[in-house]
Amino acid sequence: HIDPMSDAAIAATVTPEPIEAVGARLGIPADALYRYGPHKAKLSLDFIREIEDRPTGKLILVTAISPTPAGEGKTTTTIGLGDALNRIGAKTAVCLREPSLGPCFGAKGGATGGGRAQIVPMQDINLHFTGDLHAIGAAHNLLSALIDNHIYWGNALDIDTRRIAWKRVVDLNDRALRSIVVGLGGPANGFPREDGFDITVASEVMAIFCLAKSLEELEDRLSQMVVAQTRAKGIVRAEALKGIGSMVALLRDAFQPNLVQTMEHTPAFVHGGPFANIAHGCNSVIATRSALRLADYVVTEAGFGADLGAEKFLDIKCRQAGLAPAASVVVATVRALKMHGGVGLKDLVKEDAGAVVLGAANLRRHVENMQKFGIPVVVALNRFLSDTPAEVDAVRGVLADLGVNVHVCSHWAEGGAGAEALAEEVKMLAARPSQFRTLYPDAMPLAGKIETIAREIYRAGDVALSPDAARRLTELEAAGFGDLPVCMAKTQYSFSADPKLRNAPTGHTIPVREVRLSAGAGFVVALTGDVMTMPGLPSVPAAEHIFVDADGVIGGLS
Ligand code: ADP
Ligand code: MG
Repeated sequence: HIDPMSDAAIAATVTPEPIEAVGARLGIPADALYRYGPHKAKLSLDFIREIEDRPTGKLILVTAISPTPAGEGKTTTTIGLGDALNRIGAKTAVCLREPSLGPCFGAKGGATGGGRAQIVPMQDINLHFTGDLHAIGAAHNLLSALIDNHIYWGNALDIDTRRIAWKRVVDLNDRALRSIVVGLGGPANGFPREDGFDITVASEVMAIFCLAKSLEELEDRLSQMVVAQTRAKGIVRAEALKGIGSMVALLRDAFQPNLVQTMEHTPAFVHGGPFANIAHGCNSVIATRSALRLADYVVTEAGFGADLGAEKFLDIKCRQAGLAPAASVVVATVRALKMHGGVGLKDLVKEDAGAVVLGAANLRRHVENMQKFGIPVVVALNRFLSDTPAEVDAVRGVLADLGVNVHVCSHWAEGGAGAEALAEEVKMLAARPSQFRTLYPDAMPLAGKIETIAREIYRAGDVALSPDAARRLTELEAAGFGDLPVCMAKTQYSFSADPKLRNAPTGHTIPVREVRLSAGAGFVVALTGDVMTMPGLPSVPAAEHIFVDADGVIGGLS
């Protein structure tokens, strides 16, 4: 049976409004919404073109301290702040990523917020939703099939079958598919070669889907993807396989932003969800841009901690899409600060205000980093019921010398009413003229960009490029890719490349082992360690707890 304290049960205590009523809050006419049942819809591209020239609202970024197993609650806070802004009379929409089935059935669970700060219908959004991930997977795998088919029919492009960068994808965590051999079974099945699967959200198609402003740009970026090398080491672009039109056809409907609502009926655009390591980790540009033309405030979330999520949001998404955030909210929890202050997961139950103060060094650095981008910052302390008054008081005031306030928020327990003070401050901060700047200019050489991020954001002493990475960077500069921003693939658990080094390490060395080009997405990926693009399932996956009850209601999703 459904646990009455679970997110699913709490979400079920509210009756969602018809999706037309949610759209009407933003002035969206009913005929601009393509309904997927009563509570989900897609926003038509015709309507998006109609509102293109409207003035834009203020963009608010929600980011966080370095994650710990204790949890932070960025999505929950994004939703709670959106609801709070609406409560204080500001016309607000939220923009979130759409969940992948991998984490839903794996360790992390769903991605629709928690407690009284959720988007609904949470089961639908967490599971197939409007089918976008299936469409992205199909478009990706069509290109995979075209590559092997091209080789089967004579390989006119002279593709080196040992140097095909384009794998296959599926939207599940399935480690058995990481490395496979395809084309087995005889000549009728093609040429055997090593291949592998990534999770769909790690596909470059997903990254492009989230950065393109229009269908035309989507097509152009897909064409530019580099999928393989020839025997003579030339690059093979996706357009050479001649299937780009078909890929766009598969993606056309999916490209329309999805509209749902929070438990308090705040409009929520939930669209696109690229990986936050080898990609940039934020929802689609088309959803964010549309929301900004419909609402006065748009609250959005970037994945991981601010060193990765916010940096990529600002240096990749905002740079490419011409967006300028008006304010940012750094989410922290007493529990996570205690872990940064040296407390183990099992000891979190014991009060320890001293550890909170120690761990606040992590929060402080993330706040300083956001200030380097010229954006006003406020801290949301996402309150857990287990936090003691002494621990909460310990966080107040630790940032006073930086001119940054801390607001204790209880949106998880109380909904938007629990984040009104935060909303008031966000509104005040966003009224200031924007001073936003990216961390580095386009023209800086790629190695310089990596070094700037490492020194300014990670506070590293040094960057150690492997000989292979250094050679690749030189090749990419020579091939004309030197103007692209860099997408860092680093552990989210530390400012360093060592996930065990919590809090605020300095002087460490950032090793760059490998460099990859995402020519369609428009960034160069620098890998600082082993990066998993096909996660595995834990020993007890969430899949063991999900069920459909006698009334047909899905339970066990968290
Ligand atoms: P993130 O977006 O940072 O990954 P989420 O907002 O998805 O984090 O929250 C992760 C989990 O923590 C969710 O299951 C959510 O219900 C839970 N959670 C968040 N805030 C609180 C809180 N204040 N009290 C209890 N649980 C919370
Ligand atoms: Mg999240």
